[in-house]
Amino acid sequence: MKVSVFGTGYVGLVTAACLAEIGNDVLGMDIDQKKVESLNQGVTPIYEKGLEEILVKNLKEKRLKFTLSHAEAVQHGEVLFITVGTPQKESGAADIKYVEALALKIGQNLDSYKVVVNKSTVPIGASVWVKNWIEKAEKKSASIPFDVVSNPEFLQEGTAVKNFLEPDRIILGTDSKKAEQILKELYSPFVQKGCPLLVMDSVSSEITKYASNSFLATKISFINEIANYCERVGGNIDFVKKGMSLDKRIGEHFLNAGVGYGGSCFPKDVEAMIHFGQSENTPFQILTAVRSVNAKQKKILLQKLKHQFSSLQSLKIAIWGLAFKPFTDDVREAPALELIQSLKKEGAKIFAHDPVALKNAKIMLGEAVHYVEDQYAVLKNADALLILTEWPEYGQADFKKIKKNLNQPHVFDGRNLFPPSVGKDFGLYYHSIGRQTEKPNL
Ligand code: NAD
Repeated sequence: MKVSVFGTGYVGLVTAACLAEIGNDVLGMDIDQKKVESLNQGVTPIYEKGLEEILVKNLKEKRLKFTLSHAEAVQHGEVLFITVGTPQKESGAADIKYVEALALKIGQNLDSYKVVVNKSTVPIGASVWVKNWIEKAEKKSASIPFDVVSNPEFLQEGTAVKNFLEPDRIILGTDSKKAEQILKELYSPFVQKGCPLLVMDSVSSEITKYASNSFLATKISFINEIANYCERVGGNIDFVKKGMSLDKRIGEHFLNAGVGYGGSCFPKDVEAMIHFGQSENTPFQILTAVRSVNAKQKKILLQKLKHQFSSLQSLKIAIWGLAFKPFTDDVREAPALELIQSLKKEGAKIFAHDPVALKNAKIMLGEAVHYVEDQYAVLKNADALLILTEWPEYGQADFKKIKKNLNQPHVFDGRNLFPPSVGKDFGLYYHSIGRQTEKPNL
Protein backbone atom coordinates (compact mmCIF):
# COMPACT_ATOMS: atom_id res chain seq x y z
CA MET A 1 0.00 0.00 0.00
CA LYS A 2 1.17 3.58 -0.63
CA VAL A 3 1.67 5.35 2.67
CA SER A 4 2.97 8.80 3.66
CA VAL A 5 4.23 9.64 7.13
CA PHE A 6 4.36 13.31 8.15
CA GLY A 7 6.98 13.99 10.81
CA THR A 8 10.07 11.81 11.08
CA GLY A 9 10.80 12.01 14.81
CA TYR A 10 10.84 9.05 17.19
CA VAL A 11 7.33 7.91 16.21
CA GLY A 12 7.24 8.96 12.55
CA LEU A 13 10.57 7.50 11.56
CA VAL A 14 9.84 4.18 13.25
CA THR A 15 6.36 4.11 11.65
CA ALA A 16 7.76 4.88 8.18
CA ALA A 17 10.63 2.39 8.40
CA CYS A 18 8.52 -0.44 9.87
CA LEU A 19 5.64 0.02 7.41
CA ALA A 20 8.20 -0.18 4.59
CA GLU A 21 9.74 -3.24 6.22
CA ILE A 22 6.41 -5.10 6.00
CA GLY A 23 6.18 -4.34 2.28
CA ASN A 24 4.52 -0.94 1.86
CA ASP A 25 5.68 1.87 -0.42
CA VAL A 26 6.42 4.63 2.11
CA LEU A 27 7.27 8.30 1.74
CA GLY A 28 8.38 10.07 4.91
CA MET A 29 7.97 13.84 5.02
CA ASP A 30 9.52 16.40 7.38
CA ILE A 31 10.03 20.17 7.40
CA ASP A 32 13.56 19.71 8.77
CA GLN A 33 15.89 19.74 5.75
CA LYS A 34 18.87 18.28 7.62
CA LYS A 35 16.77 15.34 8.82
CA VAL A 36 15.41 14.60 5.35
CA GLU A 37 18.89 14.74 3.78
CA SER A 38 20.37 12.53 6.45
CA LEU A 39 17.53 10.00 6.20
CA ASN A 40 17.82 9.77 2.42
CA GLN A 41 21.49 8.90 2.97
CA GLY A 42 20.54 6.13 5.41
CA VAL A 43 21.64 7.90 8.57
CA THR A 44 19.14 8.15 11.45
CA PRO A 45 19.23 11.44 13.35
CA ILE A 46 18.00 9.58 16.46
CA TYR A 47 19.32 6.51 18.24
CA GLU A 48 16.87 3.62 18.26
CA LYS A 49 17.91 -0.04 18.34
CA GLY A 50 17.65 -1.73 14.91
CA LEU A 51 16.24 1.34 13.19
CA GLU A 52 19.20 2.27 10.99
CA GLU A 53 19.44 -1.27 9.61
CA ILE A 54 15.77 -1.21 8.57
CA LEU A 55 16.17 2.29 7.14
CA VAL A 56 19.18 1.35 5.01
CA LYS A 57 17.61 -1.91 3.83
CA ASN A 58 14.33 -0.30 2.76
CA LEU A 59 15.99 2.70 1.09
CA LYS A 60 18.03 0.24 -0.93
CA GLU A 61 15.00 -1.82 -1.84
CA LYS A 62 13.19 1.41 -2.83
CA ARG A 63 10.26 0.93 -0.49
CA LEU A 64 11.19 4.03 1.51
CA LYS A 65 12.29 7.59 0.83
CA PHE A 66 11.97 11.02 2.36
CA THR A 67 10.86 14.42 1.10
CA LEU A 68 10.51 18.02 2.21
CA SER A 69 7.40 18.49 0.07
CA HIS A 70 3.96 18.33 1.65
CA ALA A 71 2.38 18.23 -1.83
CA GLU A 72 4.45 15.24 -2.92
CA ALA A 73 3.68 13.34 0.29
CA VAL A 74 -0.06 14.06 0.15
CA GLN A 75 -0.19 12.86 -3.44
CA HIS A 76 1.91 9.75 -2.71
CA GLY A 77 -0.06 8.07 0.06
CA GLU A 78 -3.49 6.50 0.16
CA VAL A 79 -2.97 6.58 3.92
CA LEU A 80 -1.45 9.74 5.44
CA PHE A 81 -0.02 9.41 8.95
CA ILE A 82 0.23 12.47 11.19
CA THR A 83 3.15 11.93 13.61
CA VAL A 84 4.24 15.48 14.42
CA GLY A 85 5.02 16.59 17.99
CA THR A 86 2.35 17.73 20.46
CA PRO A 87 4.43 19.38 23.20
CA GLN A 88 3.10 20.66 26.49
CA LYS A 89 1.80 24.22 26.73
CA GLU A 90 2.44 26.27 29.85
CA SER A 91 -1.16 25.62 30.93
CA GLY A 92 -0.49 21.86 30.82
CA ALA A 93 -2.63 21.39 27.71
CA ALA A 94 -1.19 19.64 24.65
CA ASP A 95 -0.09 22.13 22.01
CA ILE A 96 -1.43 21.02 18.67
CA LYS A 97 -0.19 23.88 16.53
CA TYR A 98 1.99 21.47 14.52
CA VAL A 99 -0.98 19.16 13.90
CA GLU A 100 -3.09 22.13 12.80
CA ALA A 101 -0.39 23.47 10.46
CA LEU A 102 0.00 20.01 8.93
CA ALA A 103 -3.77 19.47 8.56
CA LEU A 104 -4.00 22.75 6.63
CA LYS A 105 -1.17 21.60 4.32
CA ILE A 106 -2.93 18.28 3.78
CA GLY A 107 -6.16 20.12 2.93
CA GLN A 108 -4.41 22.44 0.48
CA ASN A 109 -2.87 19.51 -1.39
CA LEU A 110 -5.65 16.94 -1.32
CA ASP A 111 -6.09 15.44 -4.78
CA SER A 112 -8.05 12.22 -4.16
CA TYR A 113 -9.66 10.21 -1.33
CA LYS A 114 -7.23 9.72 1.59
CA VAL A 115 -7.34 8.16 5.03
CA VAL A 116 -5.70 10.69 7.37
CA VAL A 117 -4.47 8.82 10.43
CA ASN A 118 -3.66 10.67 13.61
CA LYS A 119 -0.84 8.89 15.42
CA SER A 120 0.27 11.94 17.39
CA THR A 121 -1.02 12.05 20.96
CA VAL A 122 -3.71 14.70 20.68
CA PRO A 123 -6.37 16.26 22.93
CA ILE A 124 -9.73 14.57 23.16
CA GLY A 125 -11.83 15.63 20.18
CA ALA A 126 -8.87 16.42 17.94
CA SER A 127 -9.98 14.02 15.18
CA VAL A 128 -12.93 16.32 14.57
CA TRP A 129 -10.71 19.41 14.64
CA VAL A 130 -8.31 17.82 12.12
CA LYS A 131 -11.26 17.07 9.84
CA ASN A 132 -12.41 20.70 10.08
CA TRP A 133 -8.93 22.10 9.43
CA ILE A 134 -8.50 19.93 6.33
CA GLU A 135 -11.95 20.93 5.03
CA LYS A 136 -11.20 24.60 5.71
CA ALA A 137 -8.00 24.42 3.67
CA GLU A 138 -9.43 22.43 0.76
CA LYS A 139 -9.94 24.42 -2.40
CA LYS A 140 -13.60 25.42 -2.31
CA SER A 141 -14.37 23.90 -5.70
CA ALA A 142 -12.63 20.60 -4.93
CA SER A 143 -14.28 19.18 -1.79
CA ILE A 144 -12.54 15.82 -2.19
CA PRO A 145 -13.70 13.19 0.32
CA PHE A 146 -11.37 11.97 3.06
CA ASP A 147 -11.61 10.34 6.49
CA VAL A 148 -9.74 11.10 9.71
CA VAL A 149 -8.95 8.15 11.98
CA SER A 150 -7.47 8.19 15.47
CA ASN A 151 -4.76 5.52 15.76
CA PRO A 152 -2.72 6.21 18.91
CA GLU A 153 0.83 4.92 19.07
CA PHE A 154 2.01 2.94 22.09
CA LEU A 155 5.65 2.28 21.19
CA GLN A 156 8.31 2.88 23.82
CA GLU A 157 11.57 4.58 22.98
CA GLY A 158 14.46 2.16 23.34
CA THR A 159 12.39 -0.75 22.02
CA ALA A 160 10.36 1.18 19.46
CA VAL A 161 11.05 -1.01 16.42
CA LYS A 162 10.12 -4.19 18.29
CA ASN A 163 7.03 -2.50 19.79
CA PHE A 164 5.89 -1.33 16.36
CA LEU A 165 6.43 -4.69 14.67
CA GLU A 166 4.94 -6.68 17.56
CA PRO A 167 2.24 -4.42 19.03
CA ASP A 168 0.13 -5.47 22.03
CA ARG A 169 -2.92 -3.97 20.31
CA ILE A 170 -3.93 -1.67 17.49
CA ILE A 171 -6.65 0.89 18.17
CA LEU A 172 -8.65 2.54 15.42
CA GLY A 173 -11.02 5.37 16.29
CA THR A 174 -13.37 5.88 13.36
CA ASP A 175 -16.97 5.63 12.20
CA SER A 176 -15.98 5.25 8.54
CA LYS A 177 -16.26 1.68 7.23
CA LYS A 178 -14.13 2.58 4.21
CA ALA A 179 -11.25 3.92 6.33
CA GLU A 180 -11.59 0.95 8.70
CA GLN A 181 -11.22 -1.51 5.81
CA ILE A 182 -8.16 0.25 4.38
CA LEU A 183 -6.40 0.34 7.75
CA LYS A 184 -7.37 -3.26 8.51
CA GLU A 185 -5.62 -4.21 5.28
CA LEU A 186 -2.54 -2.12 6.17
CA TYR A 187 -2.32 -3.69 9.62
CA SER A 188 -3.25 -7.22 8.50
CA PRO A 189 0.33 -8.59 8.88
CA PHE A 190 0.15 -7.80 12.62
CA VAL A 191 -3.41 -9.07 13.04
CA GLN A 192 -2.48 -12.34 11.29
CA LYS A 193 0.20 -12.82 13.95
CA GLY A 194 -2.44 -12.51 16.67
CA CYS A 195 -2.42 -8.81 17.51
CA PRO A 196 -5.90 -7.63 18.59
CA LEU A 197 -7.30 -4.75 16.52
CA LEU A 198 -10.02 -2.73 18.22
CA VAL A 199 -12.34 -0.37 16.38
CA MET A 200 -14.09 2.30 18.43
CA ASP A 201 -15.20 5.91 18.23
CA SER A 202 -12.42 8.50 17.93
CA VAL A 203 -13.04 10.07 21.36
CA SER A 204 -12.63 6.71 23.13
CA SER A 205 -9.52 6.00 21.07
CA GLU A 206 -7.95 9.33 22.04
CA ILE A 207 -8.79 8.75 25.71
CA THR A 208 -7.30 5.23 25.57
CA LYS A 209 -3.88 6.66 24.77
CA TYR A 210 -3.88 9.17 27.63
CA ALA A 211 -5.43 6.69 30.07
CA SER A 212 -2.75 4.08 29.25
CA ASN A 213 0.18 6.44 29.82
CA SER A 214 -1.43 7.92 32.91
CA PHE A 215 -1.96 4.47 34.38
CA LEU A 216 1.67 3.47 33.79
CA ALA A 217 2.85 6.73 35.38
CA THR A 218 0.55 5.96 38.33
CA LYS A 219 2.19 2.55 38.81
CA ILE A 220 5.61 4.22 38.92
CA SER A 221 4.59 6.87 41.45
CA PHE A 222 2.83 4.22 43.53
CA ILE A 223 5.87 1.96 43.79
CA ASN A 224 8.12 4.94 44.51
CA GLU A 225 6.00 5.89 47.51
CA ILE A 226 6.09 2.28 48.75
CA ALA A 227 9.89 2.28 48.24
CA ASN A 228 10.36 5.42 50.30
CA TYR A 229 8.28 3.87 53.07
CA CYS A 230 10.35 0.63 52.89
CA GLU A 231 13.52 2.63 53.30
CA ARG A 232 12.11 4.44 56.30
CA VAL A 233 10.93 1.35 58.20
CA GLY A 234 13.73 -1.12 57.32
CA GLY A 235 12.09 -2.95 54.40
CA ASN A 236 13.44 -3.86 50.96
CA ILE A 237 11.45 -2.78 47.90
CA ASP A 238 12.89 -5.69 45.85
CA PHE A 239 11.11 -8.22 48.07
CA VAL A 240 7.93 -6.18 48.16
CA LYS A 241 7.90 -5.80 44.37
CA LYS A 242 8.50 -9.51 43.85
CA GLY A 243 5.77 -10.37 46.33
CA MET A 244 3.32 -8.03 44.65
CA SER A 245 4.13 -8.86 41.06
CA LEU A 246 3.63 -12.61 41.37
CA ASP A 247 -0.05 -11.74 41.76
CA LYS A 248 -1.28 -12.02 38.16
CA ARG A 249 -3.75 -9.20 38.76
CA ILE A 250 -0.81 -6.87 39.44
CA GLY A 251 2.00 -8.09 37.16
CA GLU A 252 5.63 -7.04 37.19
CA HIS A 253 5.77 -4.18 34.71
CA PHE A 254 6.36 -0.56 35.67
CA LEU A 255 6.98 -1.47 39.28
CA ASN A 256 10.66 -0.56 39.50
CA ALA A 257 11.40 2.04 42.14
CA GLY A 258 13.70 4.82 41.00
CA VAL A 259 14.22 8.52 40.49
CA GLY A 260 10.81 9.15 38.93
CA TYR A 261 9.41 8.95 35.43
CA GLY A 262 10.57 11.23 32.62
CA GLY A 263 10.70 11.28 28.85
CA SER A 264 8.69 13.05 26.22
CA CYS A 265 5.39 11.26 26.99
CA PHE A 266 4.51 10.46 30.62
CA PRO A 267 5.04 13.94 32.13
CA LYS A 268 3.24 15.73 29.31
CA ASP A 269 0.43 13.18 28.96
CA VAL A 270 -0.29 13.14 32.72
CA GLU A 271 -0.26 16.94 32.68
CA ALA A 272 -2.61 17.05 29.68
CA MET A 273 -5.00 14.56 31.31
CA ILE A 274 -5.11 16.71 34.47
CA HIS A 275 -5.85 19.69 32.25
CA PHE A 276 -8.65 17.84 30.38
CA GLY A 277 -10.27 16.78 33.67
CA GLN A 278 -10.17 20.32 35.02
CA SER A 279 -11.68 21.76 31.83
CA GLU A 280 -14.59 19.30 32.03
CA ASN A 281 -15.07 19.75 35.76
CA THR A 282 -14.17 16.07 36.40
CA PRO A 283 -10.75 16.47 38.02
CA PHE A 284 -8.39 13.49 38.02
CA GLN A 285 -7.44 13.57 41.70
CA ILE A 286 -5.23 10.49 41.39
CA LEU A 287 -3.20 12.08 38.61
CA THR A 288 -2.51 15.27 40.55
CA ALA A 289 -1.05 13.04 43.27
CA VAL A 290 0.92 11.03 40.69
CA ARG A 291 2.41 14.26 39.38
CA SER A 292 3.40 15.60 42.77
CA VAL A 293 4.86 12.25 43.93
CA ASN A 294 6.96 12.19 40.78
CA ALA A 295 8.19 15.77 41.26
CA LYS A 296 9.29 14.81 44.79
CA GLN A 297 10.89 11.57 43.61
CA LYS A 298 13.03 13.39 41.06
CA LYS A 299 14.68 15.14 44.03
CA ILE A 300 15.29 11.98 46.07
CA LEU A 301 18.98 11.67 45.22
CA LEU A 302 19.54 15.37 45.90
CA GLN A 303 18.14 14.80 49.39
CA LYS A 304 20.32 11.74 49.91
CA LEU A 305 23.41 13.68 48.81
CA LYS A 306 22.57 16.56 51.13
CA HIS A 307 22.12 14.10 53.96
CA GLN A 308 25.52 12.54 53.25
CA PHE A 309 27.57 15.68 52.60
CA SER A 310 27.02 18.77 54.70
CA SER A 311 27.49 20.99 51.62
CA LEU A 312 27.47 20.20 47.91
CA GLN A 313 29.54 23.33 47.14
CA SER A 314 32.51 22.36 44.91
CA LEU A 315 31.73 18.67 45.32
CA LYS A 316 32.67 16.72 42.22
CA ILE A 317 29.76 14.52 41.13
CA ALA A 318 30.05 11.86 38.45
CA ILE A 319 26.87 10.89 36.61
CA TRP A 320 26.21 7.65 34.77
CA GLY A 321 23.21 8.07 32.48
CA LEU A 322 21.55 11.14 30.98
CA ALA A 323 18.88 9.58 28.74
CA PHE A 324 15.46 9.18 30.37
CA LYS A 325 15.71 5.43 29.79
CA PRO A 326 18.23 3.00 28.26
CA PHE A 327 18.62 2.35 24.52
CA THR A 328 17.59 5.89 23.55
CA ASP A 329 19.38 9.22 23.14
CA ASP A 330 16.24 11.11 24.20
CA VAL A 331 16.84 13.39 27.19
CA ARG A 332 13.51 15.23 27.14
CA GLU A 333 12.27 15.53 30.77
CA ALA A 334 14.97 13.07 31.85
CA PRO A 335 15.33 12.92 35.66
CA ALA A 336 19.10 13.35 35.16
CA LEU A 337 18.71 16.79 33.62
CA GLU A 338 16.59 18.20 36.42
CA LEU A 339 18.88 16.72 39.05
CA ILE A 340 21.99 18.14 37.36
CA GLN A 341 20.41 21.59 37.32
CA SER A 342 19.63 21.33 41.07
CA LEU A 343 23.16 20.11 41.81
CA LYS A 344 24.65 23.00 39.82
CA LYS A 345 22.57 25.44 41.90
CA GLU A 346 24.09 23.90 45.04
CA GLY A 347 27.56 24.58 43.61
CA ALA A 348 28.50 21.00 42.65
CA LYS A 349 30.73 20.27 39.65
CA ILE A 350 29.20 17.78 37.26
CA PHE A 351 31.00 15.21 35.12
CA ALA A 352 28.63 13.10 33.05
CA HIS A 353 28.72 9.95 30.94
CA ASP A 354 26.06 8.35 28.72
CA PRO A 355 26.65 5.81 25.93
CA VAL A 356 24.56 7.72 23.36
CA ALA A 357 22.89 10.81 24.86
CA LEU A 358 25.87 13.15 25.44
CA LYS A 359 25.13 15.15 22.28
CA ASN A 360 21.47 15.76 23.13
CA ALA A 361 22.28 16.50 26.78
CA LYS A 362 24.83 19.11 25.66
CA ILE A 363 22.13 20.86 23.62
CA MET A 364 19.95 21.10 26.76
CA LEU A 365 22.59 21.71 29.45
CA GLY A 366 25.34 23.50 27.53
CA GLU A 367 28.89 23.83 28.77
CA ALA A 368 27.97 23.84 32.48
CA VAL A 369 28.63 20.09 32.53
CA HIS A 370 31.80 18.17 31.65
CA TYR A 371 30.86 15.46 29.15
CA VAL A 372 33.10 12.40 29.32
CA GLU A 373 33.05 9.56 26.82
CA ASP A 374 34.58 6.92 29.07
CA GLN A 375 32.46 5.32 31.76
CA TYR A 376 35.35 5.05 34.24
CA ALA A 377 37.31 8.20 33.32
CA VAL A 378 34.26 10.22 34.42
CA LEU A 379 34.76 8.91 37.97
CA LYS A 380 38.31 10.26 38.41
CA ASN A 381 38.50 11.99 41.81
CA ALA A 382 34.71 12.35 42.05
CA ASP A 383 33.15 12.56 45.52
CA ALA A 384 30.16 10.48 44.48
CA LEU A 385 28.82 8.47 41.56
CA LEU A 386 25.13 8.84 40.66
CA ILE A 387 23.54 6.16 38.44
CA LEU A 388 20.52 7.64 36.68
CA THR A 389 19.83 5.43 33.64
CA GLU A 390 19.73 1.63 33.64
CA TRP A 391 22.10 1.09 30.69
CA PRO A 392 23.33 -2.54 30.65
CA GLU A 393 26.99 -1.45 30.81
CA TYR A 394 26.31 0.22 34.15
CA GLY A 395 24.66 -2.96 35.40
CA GLN A 396 27.92 -4.81 34.66
CA ALA A 397 30.08 -2.21 36.42
CA ASP A 398 33.47 -3.12 37.84
CA PHE A 399 33.25 -2.04 41.49
CA LYS A 400 37.02 -2.34 41.94
CA LYS A 401 37.48 0.31 39.25
CA ILE A 402 34.73 2.47 40.74
CA LYS A 403 36.42 2.41 44.16
CA LYS A 404 39.86 3.06 42.66
CA ASN A 405 38.69 6.16 40.78
CA LEU A 406 36.38 7.78 43.33
CA ASN A 407 37.71 10.27 45.82
CA GLN A 408 35.03 9.39 48.42
CA PRO A 409 33.36 5.96 48.69
CA HIS A 410 29.79 6.81 47.69
CA VAL A 411 27.62 5.35 44.94
CA PHE A 412 24.01 6.58 44.71
CA ASP A 413 22.02 4.28 42.46
CA GLY A 414 18.74 5.78 41.31
CA ARG A 415 17.85 2.62 39.38
CA ASN A 416 18.60 -0.18 41.88
CA LEU A 417 20.88 -2.02 39.46
CA PHE A 418 22.64 -4.08 42.14
CA PRO A 419 21.83 -5.88 45.37
CA PRO A 420 22.16 -3.64 48.45
CA SER A 421 25.31 -5.43 49.64
CA VAL A 422 27.24 -4.86 46.39
CA GLY A 423 29.57 -2.14 47.68
CA LYS A 424 30.42 -3.77 51.01
CA ASP A 425 33.47 -5.78 50.00
CA PHE A 426 34.82 -2.95 47.86
CA GLY A 427 34.75 -0.43 50.69
CA LEU A 428 31.88 1.51 49.10
CA TYR A 429 28.66 2.89 50.52
CA TYR A 430 26.01 1.83 48.03
CA HIS A 431 22.89 3.97 48.47
CA SER A 432 19.78 2.93 46.53
CA ILE A 433 16.02 3.46 46.48
CA GLY A 434 13.71 1.72 48.95
CA ARG A 435 16.48 -0.40 50.47
CA GLN A 436 18.91 -0.07 53.36
CA THR A 437 22.48 1.21 52.84
CA GLU A 438 24.92 -1.34 54.22
CA LYS A 439 28.08 -0.30 56.03
CA PRO A 440 31.15 -1.20 53.93
CA ASN A 441 33.98 -3.38 55.18
CA LEU A 442 36.64 -0.65 55.39
P1 NAD B 1 9.47 14.42 17.61
O1 NAD B 1 9.54 15.78 18.17
O2 NAD B 1 10.60 13.48 17.79
O3 NAD B 1 9.20 14.52 16.02
C1 NAD B 1 8.27 15.34 15.41
C2 NAD B 1 8.71 15.62 13.98
O4 NAD B 1 7.68 16.30 13.28
C3 NAD B 1 9.96 16.48 13.86
O5 NAD B 1 10.92 15.83 13.06
C4 NAD B 1 9.45 17.76 13.18
O6 NAD B 1 10.42 18.38 12.35
C5 NAD B 1 8.29 17.22 12.37
N1 NAD B 1 7.29 18.21 11.95
C6 NAD B 1 6.78 19.28 12.62
N2 NAD B 1 5.88 19.93 11.86
C7 NAD B 1 5.78 19.26 10.68
C8 NAD B 1 5.00 19.41 9.51
N3 NAD B 1 4.12 20.41 9.36
N4 NAD B 1 5.16 18.52 8.51
C9 NAD B 1 6.02 17.51 8.61
N5 NAD B 1 6.80 17.31 9.71
C10 NAD B 1 6.68 18.17 10.74
O7 NAD B 1 8.12 13.80 18.18
P2 NAD B 1 7.85 12.26 18.63
O8 NAD B 1 8.53 11.96 19.91
O9 NAD B 1 8.05 11.38 17.46
O10 NAD B 1 6.28 12.34 18.95
C11 NAD B 1 5.31 12.56 17.94
C12 NAD B 1 3.94 12.34 18.54
O11 NAD B 1 3.78 10.96 18.95
C13 NAD B 1 3.64 13.17 19.79
O12 NAD B 1 2.29 13.52 19.80
C14 NAD B 1 3.93 12.21 20.93
O13 NAD B 1 3.23 12.53 22.10
C15 NAD B 1 3.45 10.89 20.34
N6 NAD B 1 4.10 9.70 20.89
C16 NAD B 1 5.42 9.72 21.16
C17 NAD B 1 6.04 8.57 21.64
C18 NAD B 1 7.51 8.56 21.98
O14 NAD B 1 7.95 7.63 22.65
N7 NAD B 1 8.29 9.55 21.52
C19 NAD B 1 5.28 7.38 21.83
C20 NAD B 1 3.93 7.39 21.50
C21 NAD B 1 3.35 8.56 21.03
